[in-house]
Amino acid sequence: MSEITWELFHQQVQACDLCPLHEGAIHKVPGQGDIHAPLMFIGEGPGQVEDEEGLAFVGPAGQLLTKMLAAISLPRDRVYICNIVKCRPPRNRVPEPHEAEACKLHLRMQFALVRPRVIVLLGSTAAKNILGSDIRITRDRGQWYERKGVWFMPTYHPSALLRDPAKKREAWEDMQALRDRLIELGEYSDLYGG
Ligand code: SF4
Repeated sequence: MSEITWELFHQQVQACDLCPLHEGAIHKVPGQGDIHAPLMFIGEGPGQVEDEEGLAFVGPAGQLLTKMLAAISLPRDRVYICNIVKCRPPRNRVPEPHEAEACKLHLRMQFALVRPRVIVLLGSTAAKNILGSDIRITRDRGQWYERKGVWFMPTYHPSALLRDPAKKREAWEDMQALRDRLIELGEYSDLYGG
């Protein structure tokens, strides 16, 4: 296998037709952010604004994610943000299992390139695809899962918080737990530049 590079990653995503989602996409949305970040966020898939702009988490949910990061003093440009699928599902439906599985090729490359120490899984689709189908976001959010030295935490997707603001208290607890984990790993002060 040829050496993995960001250039190869972006070329592969842009050329990808491994699942039918590319047919309706205006833009592929590979993900963006600090490619050396110890912290990665993974959501479900691009929405309308993301599809139009080719960037992850730039719509209303993305704006809320930026505020959540600011609440624990993390500038958004210091983390890496992407989704399970890189093409927008029609009408924002949940990606089918075969679509998510096909797109893991790209996600594996992102893991290998960024090499994060902590990964936050935003919502049920991200959590189930990474940690297993028995994950229940309302039951398991805020729990830590260690896999091969990487720490994973599922939490609510910001769009779920926009639909149901009552969930924000639990999401805030999860952000505090995230900050504590980063402090424990010695990554927090580097991320916010303190
Ligand atoms: S969603 Fe992923 S696997 Fe499907 S076509 Fe887009 S880039 Fe390829």
